[in-house]
Amino acid sequence: MSDPGELRPNEQAVELGPASDATLRFIGTIRTPWRDRRDCPRQGRLDGPECQLVLDPVWHDGLKGLEDYDTIEVLYWLDKSRRDLVRQSPKSDGQTFGTFALRSPVRPNPIGTSIVKLVRIEKGTVFVRGLDCLDGTPLVDIKPDRCAFSPKAPPKTDNGIPCQ
Ligand code: SAM
Repeated sequence: MSDPGELRPNEQAVELGPASDATLRFIGTIRTPWRDRRDCPRQGRLDGPECQLVLDPVWHDGLKGLEDYDTIEVLYWLDKSRRDLVRQSPKSDGQTFGTFALRSPVRPNPIGTSIVKLVRIEKGTVFVRGLDCLDGTPLVDIKPDRCAFSPKAPPKTDNGIPCQ
């Protein structure tokens, strides 16, 4: 779906001006076994293959404390996606859905998110299982997962707020 000229039956694109209002700083690159979108899982699995979040050296210190978590949230930029579809036909069968009713990579701001299993951290590289993106996908952010899984150690504060 990277060719902006190709539409499936009943799909609908919109006219867009140049996007200029926000600038992301990618913090690194994701290494996965998948070079072709057709080989990627639609959603990652926690027992999927080991992948790497390779952080740019300037961000290595930002990983301090992350090792306390079993599962983390990864945000990435699905850079090969087209960005102009308002209705899409994921199965190419003529049935369409609104973009915001789908987790399709095709969206105005192609941010992907996955909850992944943290395997280990070595020198600025976070090894994880549970991703579904192409090798070389730009890394946007990493966050500890929400309360249900984290942190492994009991929270240090007693202010009643269960997680940050
Ligand atoms: N787990 C994320 C989410 O729910 O936000 C992404 C789900 S999306 C359905 C995953 C699909 O995006 C993959 O199966 C692949 O077809 C496609 N994809 C993966 N990496 C991509 C990239 N760098 N650019 C565009 N599409 C990509």
